[in-house]
Amino acid sequence: MSKVLCVLYPDPVTGYPPHYVRDSIPTITVYANGQSTPTPKGPLGFRPGELIGCVSGELGLRSYLEGLGHEFIVTSDKDGPDSTFEKHLSDAEIIISQPFWPAYLTQERIARAKKLKLALTAGIGSDHVDLEAAARADITVAEVTGSNSVSVAEHVVMVALSLVRNYLPSHDVSVAGGWLIADCVSRSYDIEGMHFGTIGAGRIGLAVLRRLKPFGLHLHYTQRHRLSPEIEQELSLTFHPDAESLVSAVDFVNLQIPLYPSTEGMFNDRMFAKMKRGAYLINTARAKLVDRDAVVRAVESGHIAGYAGDVWFPQPAPPEHPWRTMPFNGMTPHISGTSLSAQARYAAGTLEILQSYFERTPIREEYLIVHGGALAGTGAKSYGLT
Ligand code: NAD
Repeated sequence: MSKVLCVLYPDPVTGYPPHYVRDSIPTITVYANGQSTPTPKGPLGFRPGELIGCVSGELGLRSYLEGLGHEFIVTSDKDGPDSTFEKHLSDAEIIISQPFWPAYLTQERIARAKKLKLALTAGIGSDHVDLEAAARADITVAEVTGSNSVSVAEHVVMVALSLVRNYLPSHDVSVAGGWLIADCVSRSYDIEGMHFGTIGAGRIGLAVLRRLKPFGLHLHYTQRHRLSPEIEQELSLTFHPDAESLVSAVDFVNLQIPLYPSTEGMFNDRMFAKMKRGAYLINTARAKLVDRDAVVRAVESGHIAGYAGDVWFPQPAPPEHPWRTMPFNGMTPHISGTSLSAQARYAAGTLEILQSYFERTPIREEYLIVHGGALAGTGAKSYGLT
């Protein structure tokens, strides 16, 4: 019998929803790159469209795990020495966590997790796990690659438009009973004809570029592996050899690379100084790619026109985090990858990975981040240990 420790975000303050605004969600069977959506065997322990990313939703895993005789602990109490997470850490064989409410698996925690074999990210982005320490301890780290890529890409398009059109401040004027047209439009532009650049054009970054193409933007990218000439031609992409070259050429910078030691703090005062005055920065990748206070300085000085995204450090962000109140921010809590549509896919993918683990069959290559003591699969393509 194995102990499976699962950390999920708390239920809604109004209680677990008895019903939903929509009756169903579309069925997606294949992603844009041809990869199939998760294919677990047997019944799902939930109805697609239900809220399963919170504690009461349990990712729909209880009947599967208890049916095999495993112990399944679900909690949102993840931080501090007296947390439920710490209490179960030492004898958990599998830890499941979502990036939205991450159970940070630091080197110290990994040292205490003597039985841990699988750190499973229900979602995408496994930087909450110290990957080097996991590799040394021969822990497999896996995530549900592809499951919420479009969810995040849609969020990026939404915030790009809302920043450039000054949507959120204008909405506030409307809510407050005002009609201050000049105040609203004095920062409002059309996006058409602007230059948009993404740092990282993997599953999400490329989906963002594809969605923005019909808006008449000039599209730029930089990333570790250059895209095929066919894709570059299809989207009329300008490739930049590095981030510095891209940021000085564009009106929007979109961050879409993973966080690992050498990408941490990539956006510091030096990088902001290279951006065009009045450019916008969007970050739905990871907060620590940017220097927290350098963002505040760049927005408050007017050098950049706005900052939006949904990723913070730590998570949950403290009430006094400066990004909550700095001007011209379009921040939300970490929600873009956990729409009800995304939850259905990553919960199914979590079940698929668990089935592979318990049946001792290989976990899909694209789901692997660390395996056999080294980066593997998507981890080897997209992450670094230094
Ligand atoms: P992906 O692996 O498909 O693409 C990442 C790309 O970044 C790869 O193509 C890789 O070559 C490139 N890259 C890595 N390091 C680089 C560097 N230093 N310079 C240039 N390019 C580099 O990943 P994805 O699915 O597109 O996700 C990207 C990131 O977005 C994830 O790692 C995660 O941190 C974040 N994410 C956030 C949410 C959310 O809810 N906000 C959801 C999913 C993913």
